[in-house]
Amino acid sequence: MSFLFAATRALTAVLIAFLLGGAVAVPQDSSAVPKDPPPSTKWHQEPVLEKKVAKNVSVYNHADATIVLETVAEQLQRQYDFLAKYTGGAPRWVLVHVGKDYECGFSIHAGPDPEMFLQSGSIFDSSANYAHEMMHCFMFDLGFAIPHWFNESLSDMAWFDSEIDLWKRRKEAWLGEFDRVDYRSYELLELRRKYGHDYFAKVCALFRKQQDECRRVFSDATKLDEKNDFILAVLSQAAGEDVKPLFKEWGFNPRTRERQRGY
Ligand SMILES: [Zn+2]
Repeated sequence: MSFLFAATRALTAVLIAFLLGGAVAVPQDSSAVPKDPPPSTKWHQEPVLEKKVAKNVSVYNHADATIVLETVAEQLQRQYDFLAKYTGGAPRWVLVHVGKDYECGFSIHAGPDPEMFLQSGSIFDSSANYAHEMMHCFMFDLGFAIPHWFNESLSDMAWFDSEIDLWKRRKEAWLGEFDRVDYRSYELLELRRKYGHDYFAKVCALFRKQQDECRRVFSDATKLDEKNDFILAVLSQAAGEDVKPLFKEWGFNPRTRERQRGY
């Protein structure tokens, strides 16, 4: 999930100016402590039982005082380090909330730092939304209005690659379980199977290289068709050939897909 609040949009220009001023390369300075986030959701009102700051993640426990938050922060820092390498850049901080009553994991960008929200019931399970939600937090650097279908699918790819390469729980053959046309990230998974294990690291590097163009295209001022053309051009560049015929063969319709993937 990825929710952008109305207030976020108003802050977009300020945030983009902030981001353009720096803080887009992998951060080196680990001495600073992040500011607490603005209370942009009802979940921020929940009491903070404990807070743990690691090198690049700051974790807020709103759920259960018996959780050893240091263990959670260590695992999340490992996830951060992996994604920093995977995407070729990183936000200075990712703020992580742990709550009892979230319906699902989700992420927002309402203040200077991206925030993600994880359910306390599965908080020690790094396969449960760590990679997916944190990837959303990393992608805010590329703009605040990435098409929903692509944003969700790219986060799913980060989850696959984290399971295989970081947590080493799964082998490549596992991907076969998702090889069906009704799987929400079918298209990107097919590209990964066709163009190889490192394909999405290449895709992320290409987006990073064109960060200014990304922020222009992935804004509310740009129409969905232009955004999709840009995405397909980057996917083609990473593949070394035009991938548009593949999307056509799969009957991919981003407009229908935007509606189908309303989650
Ligand atoms: Zn998501």
